[in-house]
Amino acid sequence: RGMLFLLQDVTDIRRLEAMRSEFVANVSHELKTPIAAVKGFAETLLAGGVDDEETKRSFLQIIYDEGDRLNRLIGDILELSKIESKRAPLEYVPVNLKELFDSINEVLLPVASKKSIQMHQGIKEHLYIEGDEDRLRQIFMNLLSNAISYTLEGGRVKVEAEIVNIGEEDEKVLISVKDTGMGIPKKDLPRIFERFYRVDKARSRSSGGTGLGLSIVKHLVELHHGTIRVESKVGEGSAFTVELPIMHTLD
Ligand code: ADP
Repeated sequence: RGMLFLLQDVTDIRRLEAMRSEFVANVSHELKTPIAAVKGFAETLLAGGVDDEETKRSFLQIIYDEGDRLNRLIGDILELSKIESKRAPLEYVPVNLKELFDSINEVLLPVASKKSIQMHQGIKEHLYIEGDEDRLRQIFMNLLSNAISYTLEGGRVKVEAEIVNIGEEDEKVLISVKDTGMGIPKKDLPRIFERFYRVDKARSRSSGGTGLGLSIVKHLVELHHGTIRVESKVGEGSAFTVELPIMHTLD
């Protein structure tokens, strides 16, 4: 038996190493693309071959946008590594869900209204869960900004929370983020929580996505002893449901 356990450990270590080097390869690839764009366009400008002011400006805009993208990528990669190495323990406090979503809405309403997307928030007052407030904000900020990004003009995004009882002590809250967006093809559903996985690379790139958002979300939900699942239909929309242990309701 001892020998078996040892073999199991070795396989685990090998698997971890393989995952690690795959991650490093992915990261390098993801970083190389924007760097190549920055270098290429800067080179062209430096060579002095572009006289047209408008073209020059558009090249500079690309350099700026790709720089921005690099910044987001590195931010997300650092975030992920911080979460994984558990260097940032959660600070549990009672969090009022309505207040949390109000503060997220403040940031996202302008983004949504630019695309004429209606935001609905159906969260009751006095609903508290126990968790790390910043991390919870990060979870739902990510889900809601995805919902806005992957929904066309005139669509709707809705947040709801519902309490479920599983036995007397196992009270949970189900928080769902639903959109009337483009949806996710069935074959991609099992993979969207993987790092760097994107359904449509081109579209995600233009929306500024890094492909890391949902893997960060999943990690943070699991750190809170919760689960996340997704249901989606192409052309109809998606629903992400987060299940979290609750603290108490004061009503
Ligand atoms: P990204 O930075 O590309 O948005 P995420 O990890 O947040 O990366 O999401 C992974 C992929 O899942 C996205 O590229 C997109 O294809 C798909 N996706 C995420 N949320 C939605 C949604 N609400 N509607 C449709 N597709 C989505």
